[in-house]
Amino acid sequence: MNFADLGLSEELLRAVGDAGYDEPTPIQANAIPPVLMMKDIIGIAQTGTGKTASFVLPMIDILAHGRSRARMPRSLILEPTRELAAQVAENFEKYGKYHKLSMALLIGGVSMGDQIKALEKGVDVLIATPGRLMDLFERGNILLTGCSLLVIDEADRMLDMGFIPDIEQICTKLPRQRQTLLFSATMPPPIKKLADKFLDNPKTIEVARAATTNANIEQWLVPVSSSDKRGTLRDLLRQPEVRTAIIFCNRKTTVRELNKSLRRSGFRSCEIHGDMEQPQRLAELELFKAGEVNILVASDVAARGLDIKGVSHVVNFDAPWHPDDYVHRIGRTGRAGATGTAYTFVTAEDGENIANIEKLTGQKIARLEAKPADAAPEPEGDEEKPQRARGRRRGGEQPKSTVRSAEKPRRSPAPRATPAPAADEDAGGWNGPIPGFLDARIDL
Ligand code: AMP
Repeated sequence: MNFADLGLSEELLRAVGDAGYDEPTPIQANAIPPVLMMKDIIGIAQTGTGKTASFVLPMIDILAHGRSRARMPRSLILEPTRELAAQVAENFEKYGKYHKLSMALLIGGVSMGDQIKALEKGVDVLIATPGRLMDLFERGNILLTGCSLLVIDEADRMLDMGFIPDIEQICTKLPRQRQTLLFSATMPPPIKKLADKFLDNPKTIEVARAATTNANIEQWLVPVSSSDKRGTLRDLLRQPEVRTAIIFCNRKTTVRELNKSLRRSGFRSCEIHGDMEQPQRLAELELFKAGEVNILVASDVAARGLDIKGVSHVVNFDAPWHPDDYVHRIGRTGRAGATGTAYTFVTAEDGENIANIEKLTGQKIARLEAKPADAAPEPEGDEEKPQRARGRRRGGEQPKSTVRSAEKPRRSPAPRATPAPAADEDAGGWNGPIPGFLDARIDL
């Protein structure tokens, strides 16, 4: 199957070609033709599957004909977070570069005046978070009666964030005769109910859940005590194979404190969490995307659905409370064909959380376990190097340990030896046999 078989216009095919995509992903192949035929769709797919393009591409062709009118957007995309909304807008820019469509972004944390001005001019595509949209609607700045195409994206997340009543309200303001596309990673009963109420004879398209079947993500549980979490994280981040990492914490305060502590230890890290103002969040994200820092410490809401390419590692510094969050968090790596590794720190209190994750994903996650090491090699000739010294202290003064995996990881990594310490290498590398990660792979 290739993009030309899906019924998209020449201009779009050109834009897709420019983006470097050769083949549609399963959600794109299955959703684009019925969307172009104006059918309602339920897409059970999560970020990382290419689902954004599965609605953005056909929408561009559908909206290519017709004109926008002041304050009456022709289509509406609802997103749970500002970042996701901004990401969808970027997709419109990328794929719509050979079309003349107008777009407005209605998100909190950005000046309302500019948003109102954009609406006044008339827009083809309005991308909004529910709260800000309701605000402007109630002030009379916006009319939804001309909106004949609605996308409800990340519906299960909207549910988690308490947006369902807002969405129901918004749906009633749109014309009955419209096309509605609903995307959700899972279909809990309230979302099913929402779909039954507001979609008309929808076609359901389900694609493999990126996290549960994504063979590209190697997953590990890392047993750790609460007091050892930071040290273990530092050791882990010093592995040479960690190029970029997102570290997830359950609480905003942990995000802030952990970022500070990482920076104090010389790591290049930044943070995003829900308490930050929008411009500040975007600025931090930009640092990470541009490679100025390689570690992003994040909370769930702030990081939801972020499309950041080439994240090599995800670390759950705190095991997530909700199993869905696990799926979303680890989906930040192993995207669109790339491979990635996800580590989840587990303390004695996390047993139930892990059991819930394993139940949801239907997979047991391999566990790294400490065992006495008899022949773990000591790095040589590196006493003067602070980072090595730390590695040695951990491996040397304490009873030496290495790790083995209790079970196979979901994607069996190729057996790899711990890299031999290079005496002249001085930056950032960890070479000591800490209770760690590289060793685990040898024992598989
Ligand atoms: P999404 O699921 O929409 O968040 O997309 C995940 C990532 O896949 C994004 O980085 C897209 O740019 C990328 N992507 C989307 N469609 C394709 C495709 N057909 N081939 C390769 N990558 C794609």
